[in-house]
Formats: sequence, structure tokens, C-alpha cells
Amino acid sequence: MSLKKVAAFELPWQAHLFKGFLESEGVQAYVVNEEHIRLYWPISNALGGVRVMVHAEDLEHAKSIYQQYLETSFEDNLQQEFPDYEVTKCDYCGSEELEPLYSGTKTLLFFLAIGPAPGKLIGYRCLDCNAKNSL
Ligand SMILES: [Zn+2]
Repeated sequence: MSLKKVAAFELPWQAHLFKGFLESEGVQAYVVNEEHIRLYWPISNALGGVRVMVHAEDLEHAKSIYQQYLETSFEDNLQQEFPDYEVTKCDYCGSEELEPLYSGTKTLLFFLAIGPAPGKLIGYRCLDCNAKNSL
């Protein structure tokens, strides 16, 4: 019973997301090499990234699932899984390209006291029209 690589990802959460996708299709999957990124991030990709492995007999099925996974977006998958999920869009131009805005004082205090940690989410800045969207 040997394991075969289906896909490799840059970050562990991406591999775990795909692993969940495979398992929702009934394919047992394993995430390997995610510790490389914790030990020394720059060499993780050189070592092949964070891999998702399946049993050899599931490889062909898993590869076709991976193709399907690449063709659908994360947002599509979320909406399929959670029909109530709503994509946050810019109130001014409708763009989905938003970055979160956090309350600055709290962020600065956390940074000085503990290290980088976000403050309270206060809104989003649109990366297309630069408008500030409140919650
Ligand atoms: Zn906008």
C-alpha cells in the first residue's frame, strides 16, 4: 500500500483545504511535508512544497478531482458547501478585491506588547477603487 502525490501546495492550509475536498469525494488523503515550512520556510518549495498524497489505487480518481478543484474557485466551493455564505463586495464599485482594515491603536498596542496581531476588524478597503467600506 503505497502513497502517491496528487498535488503540492505552497502553504499547509491550501493542502488541508484540498485534502478536505478529496475526502468529501470519498478519497482518503494525507498531507505530508507541512513541517518543512515550520522548520525553514525558504526551503519548503525547494523540497517540493506541502504535498497531498493518496493511496496508489485512488490516484487516477484523485487527479480528476484535482482538475475539477483547479477549475472551480474557492468562493464557488464555499458557496456550494455553505449556501448562506455571502461574498463581501465593495459598496461603491462591486469589486471582490478587498483588504481588511483593523483598528490601528489596538494593532499598535498588540505589536508593542506581544507582537503582530490584528486589532478589531473595522471595515474593508477596495483594492480597485480604493474606497473605504465600513462593516
Ligand atoms: Zn471599489
